[in-house]
Parts: sequence; C-alpha cells; structure tokens
Amino acid sequence: MKIFISVDIEGITGVTSWKETELGNQEHRICAEQMTKETIAACQGALAMGAKEILIKDAHDSARNIDFTKIPKCAKISRGWTNTPDSMVAGLDETFDAAIFIGYHSGSGYDGNPLSHTMSTSNNYIKINGEIASEFVINSYIAANYGVPVVFLSGDKMLCERAKKFNKGIETLAVKEGVGGAAISINPELSCELIREGVKNALKHISACKIEIPDKFEVEINYKEHSKAKKASYFPGVSQTGPYMVKYTAKDVNELSATMMFIL
Ligand SMILES: [Zn+2]
Repeated sequence: MKIFISVDIEGITGVTSWKETELGNQEHRICAEQMTKETIAACQGALAMGAKEILIKDAHDSARNIDFTKIPKCAKISRGWTNTPDSMVAGLDETFDAAIFIGYHSGSGYDGNPLSHTMSTSNNYIKINGEIASEFVINSYIAANYGVPVVFLSGDKMLCERAKKFNKGIETLAVKEGVGGAAISINPELSCELIREGVKNALKHISACKIEIPDKFEVEINYKEHSKAKKASYFPGVSQTGPYMVKYTAKDVNELSATMMFIL
C-alpha cells in the first residue's frame, strides 16, 4: 500500500495565531513539533495497516515545518514548493492507494478557525459550483483526478463537519474548535493517539471515500483588495464580475487548479 500525507499547520492541535505558523518565529517551534508528531502518528497508523511507501508533503507556507529527521524509514518527505498546480498535494499521482490530510483548517468565508483561509489570505471566499470551497475540497478534487480517495482528515471541528458532507466515507478527527479568535484544543498526545487509530480505521474502507468529479467547475473568487480582482481579470478565461470579484469556468480539475495558481 502506498499512502500520500499532506500536512498543513492551521489545523494542528493548539495552533491559534499567524505568528505560530511562521518559520523563524519563536512561537513556531512548538507548533512545528506538534505538526511533526501528528504526521508521525498518521504514518504509524498507515504502517500498522501495511503501508510500504509513504510520501509526506509539508504543505504550509515555507513548506519547511516538519522535522524531517523523525520520519519513518519507508517514508519520503517533500519540502519546499514545486510551483505546480497541485501545490499542497504535489507529488500525488495514480500510483497511490489513499490520501490523508493532517492539520487542515476551515476555508475563507467560515469562522471555524481563527486562521480560516483558502490557498492564500487574499480572498474573502472562493466558491466552486456555488459552494464555498476550502483547501480540503480543492485538494480532494485534485486527488480524485488521480483516482486517489482522501480517507482521513484532522483539523478544526467545522472543517471536519463540512468534510463529512462532501465525502460521506471519510474518517475525521476534530483536534480543536475555533471560537472567534480563539481555538479550544484537545490534549496534544491524545490527538496523536486518535490520529493513529483514525488512520487505521480509515484505511479499512478506502473505496467508500471516492467522490464524484463535477463535469465543470464554475469558480467565483471574492478578493479582499479590488486591485487583485483587476489583475486576475487579465488571465485568459477569467472575467471581473464586480470590484472585488472574478469568475471563471474550468472544464476539468487541471484547469481549475492551474488557473488558481496564477490568480490567487
Ligand atoms: Zn497553512
């Protein structure tokens, strides 16, 4: 079995402020350590179920957060950015059996996490086919495009609840609940235990986590600054629909993600 693990930081146990997510900031160290522990816990769950290969994508900001000296022998870790449309799930392809998302967070337009955002902090929301889309949703489509189901998700409570509606078979673990600018987290060791067990369970029903890929993607982006909407409107296929708003229609997942890479 070959497993892909994409790891963000805003949905890691305890993480509450932007400063804690920035490499080089003193407050980042402890959060990156917990991010590492939750990643290892996911690896242990996968190994217990017979995984022979694991690719870990460090998928936050610098993409140099996880302590790579701690990963299991059968795992590889992708640090830094490939600058390809697959972004947070770069390296994923048809050879993987399942994907796992750790430390994910509510998207822009939702108050489920003090650090809610989608792909960048430039937007108030991104809608896909009329629904506000989180990074979980976008990356799930990219994975589905390779035929790889996302079987496990950890992060904030609101994201986990929404994920269950999007992917009926997915196993989730809410390690915290966002309340305004605060996050109420469970015990960090318990998070790791529950991730380990959750991943084990999830890998027992991989095929239940398959999702449908829509025939087309109608995308609407509402930016925080009107100048961004203006700039984006010059990208082929993108049109400005209001001072802060653009839209485009993508015929497939590749077009969805490639356009996003240039205009967010
Ligand atoms: Zn992040």
